[in-house]
Amino acid sequence: MRVLITGAAGFLGSHLCDRFLNDGHSVVGLDNFLTGNPENIAHLGNRSDFEFVEHNISRNISIAGPIDGVLHFASPASPIDYLAHPIATLEVGAMGTHHALGIAKAKGARFLVASTSEVYGDPLVHPQPESYWGNVNPIGPRAVYDEAKRFAEAMTMAYRRTHGMDAKIVRIFNTYGPRMRPNDGRVVSNFVVQALSGIPLTVYGEGQQTRSFCFVDDEVEGIYRLFLSKEAGPINIGNPNEFTISQLATLVLEITGSKSRIDVQPLPEDDPRVRKPDITRARTLLGWEPRIQLREGLERTIAYFRQQLAVPV
Ligand code: NAD
Ligand code: UDP
Repeated sequence: MRVLITGAAGFLGSHLCDRFLNDGHSVVGLDNFLTGNPENIAHLGNRSDFEFVEHNISRNISIAGPIDGVLHFASPASPIDYLAHPIATLEVGAMGTHHALGIAKAKGARFLVASTSEVYGDPLVHPQPESYWGNVNPIGPRAVYDEAKRFAEAMTMAYRRTHGMDAKIVRIFNTYGPRMRPNDGRVVSNFVVQALSGIPLTVYGEGQQTRSFCFVDDEVEGIYRLFLSKEAGPINIGNPNEFTISQLATLVLEITGSKSRIDVQPLPEDDPRVRKPDITRARTLLGWEPRIQLREGLERTIAYFRQQLAVPV
């Protein structure tokens, strides 16, 4: 297969490129480096089965040659990134998804869009099954991301119904691991970098809000299985083990051996209080479930950031 991956220089996109290449497929990676890092794909530069296109997918583009699959992962994903780029985030969820679907339609390709647990907003149902429609504030600061992804899902379903396309939706829950940007503002990278740098860990609110963290290798395996399957989704791919943010801070301090203290900061507006995927569909339809639990995943992530920050082990 020859697949187009948008957002290829990002955290998840770069791991997906590796996964497809390792399985013998060819990859066209597309990115405009809005939040991505050329270093994430630098190791692919000399491969004949990898091509890179620098482009903003919110603008039209045609890709030469056959394409068998399109995976649309371009979008800022960290709250500080999408709050810094609100209009670009809405554009890439809307026009970017439309363009990526258009490429897939023109090429007769399979399509998969990266949606998110954020479509459930601040959920009133816990854990969240795919049948839950969510509780999203359409005019709050996070709406630029949440509503863009909800639009992307609606557009994907419209192409599926109208054009009979094989178009799929994955709802990704908080994922972490190597290649996150040290300053991308997400909680795992923030805490690990803060702990390794000996500066206070910034816990927002009381730290009692929960998240369910999935290690990147598990996440990529689930996405890959969905892409190759006959299923359309939406399917939640995430780790159902739920932790409070305070528990995460304690675990990061323990594993790093850091003496950093906790610095309590205000809870951001519309910050979801709980989040935990119901992965019954992924288990039954894809035979997928996460294998790497938080301690092991954090150990691997911390090892990566130690290298990045050149902190002596
Ligand atoms: P990331 O910021 O590391 O990667 C996103 C990539 O998309 C970056 O390389 C960025 O430069 C690129 N990009 C953004 N706008 C673009 C545009 N208009 N044209 C071309 N490229 C563009 O984020 P990530 O964590 O790798 O997330 C990837 C996808 O997965 C996103 O769609 C995100 O919404 C989704 N997702 C991620 C998580 C997570 O926990 N990491 C959770 C839910 C959903
Ligand atoms: N958070 C925190 N300290 C940080 C960064 C984030 O306490 O330095 C909290 C944030 O308020 C949220 C959770 O950690 O409740 C997860 O935040 P993240 O930005 O990683 O992703 P989200 O799940 O909110 O999209």
